[in-house]
Amino acid sequence: VKQSGGNDIVFYSSEMDEEYRFKRQLSSNLRHAMENGQLELHYQPQCETDGNDQVIHSFEALLRWTDPELGSIPPGRFIPIAEETGLIVPLGEWVLRTACKEAARWKNPLGIGVNLSAVQLQKHELPELVAEILNETGLDPKRLELEVTETALIHNPARSMKILSDIKKLGVRIAMDDFGTGYSSLATLQNFPVDRIKIDQSFIKKLVSNDQAIAIVRAVINLSRDLNLEVIAEGVETDEQASFLNDHDCRSVQGYKYGYPKPISDYAHVVNPTEFP
Ligand code: C2E
Ligand code: CA
Ligand code: CA
Ligand code: CA
Repeated sequence: VKQSGGNDIVFYSSEMDEEYRFKRQLSSNLRHAMENGQLELHYQPQCETDGNDQVIHSFEALLRWTDPELGSIPPGRFIPIAEETGLIVPLGEWVLRTACKEAARWKNPLGIGVNLSAVQLQKHELPELVAEILNETGLDPKRLELEVTETALIHNPARSMKILSDIKKLGVRIAMDDFGTGYSSLATLQNFPVDRIKIDQSFIKKLVSNDQAIAIVRAVINLSRDLNLEVIAEGVETDEQASFLNDHDCRSVQGYKYGYPKPISDYAHVVNPTEFP
């Protein structure tokens, strides 16, 4: 009996060890990937729809990493590790610069959404960095929308508030990502200078079949209308979800139904890029 307990402990600790080594390897590979140009942004369309036709009004930039040994690693796996190690700061700067540079060369001046990590939002230099990148790329600030989560803001509300309002002064838009999954959502909306709410895809996924998800989505759409905020539904995949959203006057949508995240070359006919300098 004792022996099996001992085995459990040994098994557990070697598993932890493996996890730790894996994280260290991933972090070191990621650092090299950044330096060696192995990272790439994919772009997912955000559309306006009337239920029949849709028009792309912006793209969200999503980070992609293919490691030569490990293959393609999803951001859900490596972003948390980059946050733990602090690598997210230079990584996030690379994403912001790359996305702005890309959008600045589109003849069709569509919007561009960029995700910000909680760690980036704690840096007082962030507004200055955003200003510098806008200046350097010549991107119209109105076209840039930074996506933040409630959880990121709640960590240090006073500081995030100051940083976000300095960013807003540049003319940049702010979107509240994954809305409904954090806590104290309503208070956050009231206090922070947010332009748009992104309804989390977990609610959209359950739309039509789950009464609770239906109630939440309706409430968020009504809330955003009452607070004069724009609203977009994320993760729209099916016709049923799309028609529910249309029936409830949510005209802004994003999801596989409207387009996958892909290299911008796949959307060249939409953005109409100028030649590379
Ligand atoms: P997110 O910001 O909520 O991004 C939306 C995620 O949903 C993306 O996953 C996207 O590919 C996926 N998605 C879009 N439409 C659909 C759909 O119809 N169905 C389903 N099932 N999924 C859909 P991805 O690209 O794997 O990114 C996951 C998360 O990683 C993002 O969630 C974001 O939190 C983070 N992330 C990605 N790129 C960056 C980045 O550049 N910086 C930071 N800080 N985080 C990033
Ligand atoms: Ca996002
Ligand atoms: Ca989201
Ligand atoms: Ca998310």
